[in-house]
Amino acid sequence: MGRSNEFVARYRFTTGEGLHLADMDPADTGRLMSKQKAQAALAKGIEKLSTLQERLYAQDRWAVLLVFQGMDAAGKDGTIKHVMSGVNPQGCEVHSFKVPSTEELDHDFLWRCVVRLPERGRIGIFNRSCYEEVLVVRVHPELLERQRLPSGLVGRRIWKERFEDINALERHLARNGTRILKFFLHVSRGEQRKRFLERLDTPEKRWKFSSADITERPHWDAYMTAYEEMLRGTATRNAPWYVVPADHKWFAHYVVAEAVIAALEELDLAFPKVDRVREKELRRVRTELMAE
Ligand code: AMP
Ligand code: MG
Repeated sequence: MGRSNEFVARYRFTTGEGLHLADMDPADTGRLMSKQKAQAALAKGIEKLSTLQERLYAQDRWAVLLVFQGMDAAGKDGTIKHVMSGVNPQGCEVHSFKVPSTEELDHDFLWRCVVRLPERGRIGIFNRSCYEEVLVVRVHPELLERQRLPSGLVGRRIWKERFEDINALERHLARNGTRILKFFLHVSRGEQRKRFLERLDTPEKRWKFSSADITERPHWDAYMTAYEEMLRGTATRNAPWYVVPADHKWFAHYVVAEAVIAALEELDLAFPKVDRVREKELRRVRTELMAE
């Protein structure tokens, strides 16, 4: 086990057993790690990520999918921006999932995410994902009605069935060479309030404030219950959840970077080897170029 792996293991869940949000502190900073140390380590981590991604792309065997979930202002956008700042945009794609369109609602609930999955050699990033289908849709049952499912198929078991279907999709992807990492940015209600106020008080941040954010705050407890059940129902070996303490942005960025590095290091990424026939051919081309 590498150094990164040991550190992130504390935040990783490959099963729902023993996963209780109330036991986890959003303000945790990993055994008193200092902000300065974490930022220096993050800078190094970003360089490492850049090298690993280059190999992932060249090797063209594995795909990597990073899923980000969290309440509003949990820091999803900022984490993606910071952690991925060193990677080549050509090998990476980010998709943000908003309120579904009419076309998306006409398909099964996994469809819009499936069509945006990363190809081999790439890192795909989902800013929100099909997990919204067991979160916001669960907290607001009228959203489920808009999906026009045949009534016989909508019962009390629907959330459990959705967990099963997501797990089945993720297992399928894992078996086909997609490495999946899912991050729940765990922010406290108090920190969200602080960040909303910051958005309101800072002209450059005001655009980010949506009135919808405020209407969701009274549903905080319902969201936490939905999040916990979702995490417990979909934490698997194929696609672990990382519950990332997110009240301190610097710490959340560090945890996510280390988790991605540890996962990429496990893949044994290497530049493809050139065989002897090809090597001979390349030498011949070189000689020709030199002779020009
Ligand atoms: P933001 O991430 O702040 O741009 O907001 C996107 C909004 O889209 C959030 O309020 C989400 O709850 C909402 N959203 C994302 N996916 C779904 C979904 N499947 N059904 C309903 N609302 C969704
Ligand atoms: Mg928002």
